[in-house]
Amino acid sequence: MRLIATEEAYAPTEYVKRYLELTKTVDTAPTRYLGMYYGKPEMARQLTDLDLRIEEMDRLGVDMHLLGITAPGVQAFDAGLGTELAIMANDALAGEIARRPDRFAGLAAVAPHAPEQAARELKRAITELGFNGVIINSHTHGEYLDDPKFWPIFEAAVACDTPIYLHPNFPSEAMIKPYADYGMMGALWGFGADASLHVVRMILGGVFDAFPDLKIVLGHLGEGLAFWLGRLDNRYQNLLRRGGLEPLGMKPLAKLPSDYFRNNFYLTTSGMMTQPPLDLCLQMFGDDRIMFAVDYPFEQTAEAVAFVRALPYEAEKMAKLTHLNAERIFGIAPAATARKDAE
Ligand code: MN
Repeated sequence: MRLIATEEAYAPTEYVKRYLELTKTVDTAPTRYLGMYYGKPEMARQLTDLDLRIEEMDRLGVDMHLLGITAPGVQAFDAGLGTELAIMANDALAGEIARRPDRFAGLAAVAPHAPEQAARELKRAITELGFNGVIINSHTHGEYLDDPKFWPIFEAAVACDTPIYLHPNFPSEAMIKPYADYGMMGALWGFGADASLHVVRMILGGVFDAFPDLKIVLGHLGEGLAFWLGRLDNRYQNLLRRGGLEPLGMKPLAKLPSDYFRNNFYLTTSGMMTQPPLDLCLQMFGDDRIMFAVDYPFEQTAEAVAFVRALPYEAEKMAKLTHLNAERIFGIAPAATARKDAE
């Protein structure tokens, strides 16, 4: 069956170089952590070398990668350099995709800390370079997208009818201390904790009342939120009933928190390779909003592919999960000579 992986990390060589330079001057827990990854020649090669990647995709039966610049992306830099690197990375990635449009699609980088330029770059990337969406790596220097100063980015995304992949980042400086032990600041725990916080901030901050057509994609089967939606609704309604919103600085919403999650969010399976959470998400959100992802090169493609191929779902659900949803949500053309689903 045609397999499109939708959260696949990429970095132009220039970006890796700039990031390693940054790690020499900025000594924070996240730069140390990532310096460990990017400083390894093998990881740097996996991120930058698309021929190496295609060899693995061919060997393991992955047809396409939806590539996004690896976390924390250009958001690690200041707004000026971030904007410059986003344009550089998007031009580089667009060139690679143009060489092999049957194997690669792309998520554009933007520097949210320069919101007007980010909105312009989003429009350029979608309308001129042919990108399939945008990737934002959670907070930017501790600021989250519920802040209206970032909303020009949402306006542009809605105007272009393109999804934003809200990818995790390390917990912000204000939160990171208790995560800094036991390797907890990264994918093990801190990424999901920060990304889910980000989503709840956006929902309660009224982002989706202001932008009812905004589409957000989350990895890791929704960063744990499927499990938590009932409680969000319950507590929100409880506060509403008791007149508790205003004293807490909260705004009344047009809908329940879970309604926004069901209407505005799409999920991928990146890094999640056990069936019960996927069953839960399918039961809660249906089979039109969930897509396959690996999270190359941080997760093992062989494991992710083995997981998805062994799922016991009927053919239609499998086709949606493995490629049809990704084609629809990210505007990826069905392969002219797609491998037959029966294969
Ligand atoms: Mn990832």
